[in-house]
Amino acid sequence: MSVRQAQYERLRRLVLELDLPMARVHVLPVRCPYCGKSDRIHALTDPASERGVPPDHRTEYETLWKDFGGQGLGVCKFCHQLVRVGPGGTAAGLLDDGVAGA
Ligand SMILES: [Zn+2]
Repeated sequence: MSVRQAQYERLRRLVLELDLPMARVHVLPVRCPYCGKSDRIHALTDPASERGVPPDHRTEYETLWKDFGGQGLGVCKFCHQLVRVGPGGTAAGLLDDGVAGA
């Protein structure tokens, strides 16, 4: 497993275990590149405003958030994969090459 994959798995586990994002207000109208569902991707919340992360996990979430470029990160609540949402309203896997904004 590459470093990138390990980081991805850490962030994914954190998001799933803590059931992030806590506030389910930002459902993105984009298609999940993994499962194809168009109404299941939730934008992950900036570490500074995410209240669902307990203090002992804050640093980890913050670090991983930065590692993956921060803005535009999302989680599919159907297939539980993390995605990056591009400016054109498209979503791609975080481990894919040539992803918009990566
Ligand atoms: Zn999905």
